Amino acid sequence: MTKTEYANILLPNVKHTKEEYENMYKDRNLKEGAIVTRFAPSPTGFVHIGGLFTSFIATRFAHQTGGICLLRIEDTDTKRTVENGIEEIIRDLKDYGITFDEGAISETEEIGEYGPYIQSKRKDIYQAFAKYLIERDLAYPCFMTEEEQETIRKKQENVKARIGIYGQFAKFRNITMDEALERISKGEKYIIRFKSPGNFENKVIIEDAVRGKLSFPENDLDIVLIKKDGLPTYHFAHLVDDHLMKVTHIIRSDEWLSSLPIHVQLFDTFGYKRPIYAHLSPLTKKDEGGIRKLSKRKDKEAAVSYYHEAGIPKEAVKIYIMTTANSNYEEWYEKNKENWLDFTLSFDKVSTSGSLFDLDKLTNISKNFISTMKASELYEEALNYSQEFDKEFYDLLTKYKDYSINVLNIEREVERPRKDIENYASVRKEISYMYDELFNKDETPYEYKDFYNKDLLTYYINNVYDESDDKQTWFNKIKEICPRFGFASETKEYKQNPDNYKGSVSHVCELIRVAVTHRKETPDLYEILKLLGKDRIKERIEKFNI
Ligand code: GLU
Repeated sequence: MTKTEYANILLPNVKHTKEEYENMYKDRNLKEGAIVTRFAPSPTGFVHIGGLFTSFIATRFAHQTGGICLLRIEDTDTKRTVENGIEEIIRDLKDYGITFDEGAISETEEIGEYGPYIQSKRKDIYQAFAKYLIERDLAYPCFMTEEEQETIRKKQENVKARIGIYGQFAKFRNITMDEALERISKGEKYIIRFKSPGNFENKVIIEDAVRGKLSFPENDLDIVLIKKDGLPTYHFAHLVDDHLMKVTHIIRSDEWLSSLPIHVQLFDTFGYKRPIYAHLSPLTKKDEGGIRKLSKRKDKEAAVSYYHEAGIPKEAVKIYIMTTANSNYEEWYEKNKENWLDFTLSFDKVSTSGSLFDLDKLTNISKNFISTMKASELYEEALNYSQEFDKEFYDLLTKYKDYSINVLNIEREVERPRKDIENYASVRKEISYMYDELFNKDETPYEYKDFYNKDLLTYYINNVYDESDDKQTWFNKIKEICPRFGFASETKEYKQNPDNYKGSVSHVCELIRVAVTHRKETPDLYEILKLLGKDRIKERIEKFNI
């Protein structure tokens, strides 16, 4: 029996040969230096902030070089795959405006000429590549039962040996064709293992784009290529796919760093040019005095849905990712806020030690980003947010659209805009007093004793306040009534002789502010009064008692 016939028995019904598949995937016609990379998530549940980080960075690297970033779904571990997992990934990434040039766009549709991009649809292709190895005696069927493997693992643990199938533990490495065929005829189940040509005593040098030159012992593990269900392992699928899809750069999390010797060995065995690997450090968090990896299970901020629910602008999350990805981004961003995405990322500025995920810093970025938004943009975002999370506020924003935009426009679209709004969720909190429906409900009556003066307030609204005054006139008028009620028209005057006055003009302003908003701190009072209008100011002043 020839090796080819043998391979046909081990992996039957494979439609094409490796060579035929290779001919189907044409070279890409991209300009010099263009990076082809991919984001390759497994549909195992929600999108992790780490996944958002990697996908965003990968798309940036590709696009800044005029290259391609594709979305490949790695669903060969069927036990870990969750229902709707693919749709969720696609939706969450799209929601963040992360766009791929090729890949799955739903469970059933995809774009691009290098697919299928969902691994479970590529079974035949992987098997063709495995057959190629079997024919060259570089792969073999392994009939070890799970119990046998478990026994080996325990034995290795006990004697503190390396875990895995290698050397003496690779029981079927040299199985003859006859023995294999006999076992198969008896119905024994098997998997296909790689016959690793490596020697653990040798070193392999690998250049990582982020970490520089790395030295590892050569791989000598006979890793699994094709599992019992006929699907490949991650290691093998990544070789086949990244080769056929003409991927030049593998940007992925550093949990795969230790598998690098296996991966380069696979590329070398097939005689393929090794891709450039760039391993990104995990996002970390301070916890109980130490620093640990952000955990899907423990940390609410690990899920991207957290940012959506908190109303943190997607742009702020991405700006934050850029600051974590490249140490020189932050300084650049300060000068280029308008074009925050135009930064050119570089691999050598990516941290190798893990980036501390700092929610306070993100809040700060979010606050600053919101301060640069136009009132109408912020209105739309607040509307979308409240539609999902705060129906009452949504109804008010809808009912009073123009008014709300004007409210949001106070101290906005100016050189030094207000920075009180941290996220879309806090819009309501910051402006609720501007809506009578919420003012009477959300705001607790303010106990304002310090400069309380009802006569002044009444006089002011009945005899002084005029909606048509410009800001200067408005302020001058407040100054003018000060002496009548025992307040100093100038703060300086009051400071020099505090005993002669009840307070100063700034206290009068504060009094008016507290009366109409129930807050000591608000954006510009003149604008607030103008938007409230005389009748509503009057109503609020009348009700303002201590
Ligand atoms: N499916 C792997 C994961 O989710 C992908 C790693 C890679 O990018 O190669 O970790």
